[in-house]
This record gives sequence, structure tokens and C-alpha cells, in this order.
Amino acid sequence: MDCYADNSATTQPTQRVMDAMTACMRGTFYNPSALYGQALEARHLLDDCRSALCRAIHAPKDARAVFTGCGTEADNLAIIGHLSACHDKGRVVYSAGEHPAVKEACLQAQKLGFEAVEAPLDGFGLPDLAALEALLTPDTRLICMMQVNNETGAVYPMDAIAGLRAMRCPSAALHVDGVQGFLRVPFDMKALGVTSYALSGHKIHAPKGVGALVFDKSLRLSPILFGGGQESGLRSGTENTPGIAGLLEAVREYPAQNDMRRQKLLLLDALKAGVPALRVNGPDPASDASAPHILNVSFPPVRAETLLHALEADGVCVGNGSACSSRKNTTSAVLRAMNVPQRAAQSALRFSLCPYLTDEQILYASQRACAHYDILKKFERR
Ligand code: PLP
Repeated sequence: MDCYADNSATTQPTQRVMDAMTACMRGTFYNPSALYGQALEARHLLDDCRSALCRAIHAPKDARAVFTGCGTEADNLAIIGHLSACHDKGRVVYSAGEHPAVKEACLQAQKLGFEAVEAPLDGFGLPDLAALEALLTPDTRLICMMQVNNETGAVYPMDAIAGLRAMRCPSAALHVDGVQGFLRVPFDMKALGVTSYALSGHKIHAPKGVGALVFDKSLRLSPILFGGGQESGLRSGTENTPGIAGLLEAVREYPAQNDMRRQKLLLLDALKAGVPALRVNGPDPASDASAPHILNVSFPPVRAETLLHALEADGVCVGNGSACSSRKNTTSAVLRAMNVPQRAAQSALRFSLCPYLTDEQILYASQRACAHYDILKKFERR
């Protein structure tokens, strides 16, 4: 038995995704910008995928989608691309929970003359709305709020955030990093008035190397990559057609009805039974404020890395913090922003599920975690 429970770091491409990619490389390998008829099929593939992405998030009718190399690039295009096109300088406000793909791009925007301001989180990892309201000044040009936090699974209250924007700075753009929420948590871009939304293929069983930015037609956007002028001049470079074929298949195949929430609660109950000291980091896992697929829990006094490696030997893969920061020897910035005590932060593991796990795998993972915890807790200094 094994259990890959690090799906927020990346997912395994499905057979259908791999078949769609192979078919594309065999039959539709043409350059989508070429003029001969054979290339038309490649162009249709791009358009079919754009439409599928827009439909999935209820984008406004005239919204556009640009393909990028990853979620990070989509976030950077939304932030640097928009701010470069803004006539007036001002503020960019982002939440303390944002992924580095957003946070670092906002900090870079300071070099363009913008003021980057971080909005605090509450103890559940959700934006502190009163503090956010106070930070939204009339000269705010851009607000960046993620749909789902990659470490805690906190689902940001987009209705309330969109309401604050309408009240305090209606002309500011609102960018949503949807990398962890896309397809897993419903999203209505049009109803919320969101101006741009970033997503990434490899989190939904498509391959690595493909992402997209969906944006409202009215959003001013400059390219951040220059060259041959593909993607209507917004993202030069020949499109990754096999990756886009995989992304399209992944979107078509993703099961809207799935068992992730039930399985997450099954996992939580089983862990609680074996680890009385277990602590949940994030919103109530049964509530809509918690994404169905992410569970962040602390196993004090056992250090996260020790337990992670013990589980790895049993074929159970889990994350400690986000994948890109897990090699840095610090506790998670997100847990710190939530005021999670240091010892709890040091023992926090993230289990992230996908629709294709079985109950047996979930129970196996929890059983192994409890068994290792029982032994390891005796060796930790109190
Ligand atoms: N945003 C969030 C919330 C993420 O979790 C990630 C990746 O983990 C990214 C952005 C970056 O996506 P990519 O790995 O496709 O660059």
C-alpha cells in the first residue's frame, strides 16, 4: 500500500491526460502560428482550452486567457504586467498568506515605484477583513488575494473582499491566485468582478510547464516576456501545445463530484484518535472556509521532518509547508502570520488529497502516522 498525499505540491498526470498529450505530439505538433491548414487544428486546440478554462471559473463572456509556462508566470504577468501598464503609481495590497509567486512579484513592483503593503491574517489563516479595509486606500491600484491558501487550505472570503474593493477603491484591479482552488473550489469570476485569475496545470493532473492567466478584457496588461508576439502579444514564445492538450483533458476529466471532503474528515478523525495532541492549523476542516483537499495538522512534540521521513519509508508522501519553501530551514511564514506557536509550527504537516485516492489509502496513511507518532514522541525533548 502507498498513499501520495502531497497533491498541493504536484499531481500525477492521469492516463487520459498522457494520451491526449501523446496524440497532440503525434498528430497536432504543428506550430499554432503557422499559416497552412494543418496548423489550424493546433490553433483550435488552444481556443478549446481557453474556452474550457473560462467556463470553469465563470469568466465574463469577453474575458481572455493567455497560456503561460506555470502558475508563477501567470501571477507575475497579472502583477508586473498590470502595474507596468498603470499610468498612475499607488499601492498594491496582498495578503500575508500569498504564495511567493505573488508576494515576490508585489515586492518587485516597488522597483516600478509602487508601494507594496501586506494585509495580515487572522488565527485561522483568513485575511483580517477590518485590517484589509483600513489598508485599501483610494490610490490602491491592485489587490492580490488567493482563492485557497496552499499551506492551510483556507478559502478566502472573496465576496467580502470584492465588497471592500467596491467600497474603498473601485478602480483597483483584483487579482486572484487560483492555483490551489481551480476546479476544487467553485469560483465565479464574473459575479465577483475579479479582474484576473491565475491557474496551473500540474496541480490538477495536467503536466508541469503549463499555466494560464484568465483576465477581464478591460484590464490593462503589458507583456513581461518579449519576442515573436504570440498570445496576442502578451506572452511571446511558441505555445506548449502538448501541455495545453493535457490541461484541456485534465479540465474535462476532473470529477466535480468527488469524495475529497469526506476523505479529509475521515483522515482527521483517524489522526485525532491516535494523536490526542493533534492541532488543526486553518479553518474548521468541515466548513466551506476550508478547501476540501488540504489538511494542515501539527503533531507536537514530534518535528515535522522526522515524521515526514518516517512516513516516506512507508510509501506515504506528505508536505511540510509549501513544496517550494520546504527545503528552507525555517518555519512557515504563513503559520507565523497566523500566530501558530513555534512548537506547533515545527510539527506541522500538510496532507493534500486528490479525487483518485481510496479510503484504504487514507486510512493507511493515518495508521502509519499514528504508529510513528507513538514511537517518535518519546524521543523529543519537552
Ligand atoms: N500559487 C500557489 C497558491 C501555489 O500553491 C503555487 C505552487 O505551489 C503557485 C502559485 C506556483 O505555481 P507553479 O508551480 O505552477 O509555478
